[in-house]
Amino acid sequence: MSLNAVRPWREIQRRKSRQIMVGSVPVGGDAPISVQTMTNTETTDVRGTLDQVIRAADAGADIVRVSAPDEDSTRALREICAESPVPIVADIHFHYKRAIEAAEAGAACLRINPGNIGDARRVAEVVRAAKDHGCSIRIGVNAGSLERHLLEKYAEPCPDAMVESGLDHIKLLQDHDFHEFKISVKASDVFLAAAAYQQLADATDAPIHLGITEAGGLMSGTIKSAIGMGNLLWSGIGDTIRVSLSADPVEEVKVGFEILKSLGLRHRGVNIISCPSCARQGFDVIKTVEALEQRLEHVKTPMSLSIIGCVVNGPGEALMTDVGFTGGGAGNGMVYLAGKQSHRMSNDRMIDHIVEEVEKKAAEIEARDKAAAEAPEATEAAE
Ligand code: SF4
Repeated sequence: MSLNAVRPWREIQRRKSRQIMVGSVPVGGDAPISVQTMTNTETTDVRGTLDQVIRAADAGADIVRVSAPDEDSTRALREICAESPVPIVADIHFHYKRAIEAAEAGAACLRINPGNIGDARRVAEVVRAAKDHGCSIRIGVNAGSLERHLLEKYAEPCPDAMVESGLDHIKLLQDHDFHEFKISVKASDVFLAAAAYQQLADATDAPIHLGITEAGGLMSGTIKSAIGMGNLLWSGIGDTIRVSLSADPVEEVKVGFEILKSLGLRHRGVNIISCPSCARQGFDVIKTVEALEQRLEHVKTPMSLSIIGCVVNGPGEALMTDVGFTGGGAGNGMVYLAGKQSHRMSNDRMIDHIVEEVEKKAAEIEARDKAAAEAPEATEAAE
């Protein structure tokens, strides 16, 4: 029985969307909500771009987007796509030939607006290239670059204008019998983005790529994205997400996962529950959590860890986590395993010890999941 079945207030009803493939990653339908980021290297710097793609993938990115502004970049894409551990989306603006070259180079998806690339013949050529090479397409409407006729019609970027733009692009693809597309309607303003996405969600069954564009730096952009995307995801909208930060792409991936983890939509790595600390703390909570966040970055198994300064909240939080540590007196604290008091541990050894306990627990969870996957009937019978 899922946790949500016994705790209905945690239930999120996902909007029903069609499923498409971005390379090997399903997007939409009942597929897990995927996390994307985008490289900020010169695409022609193949090694540098691949290094960034690999770092993003290690941090959990399911899909990575790479700019393809010129022919040298689409040429570089061939090697990048061949060596990337995750599907690559080629970011194209305006030039239809770059889209065709990117499809030929192995891009899993093209980010292109068919209404911006010229006449019907060009659209047909891009669609043919996408079909021939198994590429999907993302239509990316942006409040900052709406078509002139829509700005004249609506006077300013607004949800109606953004959704109309999106539906116009969709129609161009459908007219060419192309249905492997997803769509975004991004804005840097959270109100505008949220309203546009809500309207879009009712207007199409295409998978939706969520994003608050140009959200800002690590701190402000994280908050803006969490509010904008969090609100939409909570109401069931969104099949793939990209957090746009003026920061390292790895940070975008981490923030994306944290948003999904907060809503119970994806689980990855150690979810640390920690108190803000105060004069009651039995050890330095802030420094300990900082150290543990770094030391536990390599753990991908979903699990929980509580690090609480004292017994006011420690035992209660530890009840609900896989591993817990609660500060006590005389330089010692209590270690909890699976919600139960286990043993005492000195503060000066506790970081190494917690890392060991978490790694042990992760191995245990992985072994259990592997056994369950290998013998589903036996597990069902036991339940
Ligand atoms: S759990 Fe204890 S140490 Fe942490 S903030 Fe609360 S009272 Fe302070």
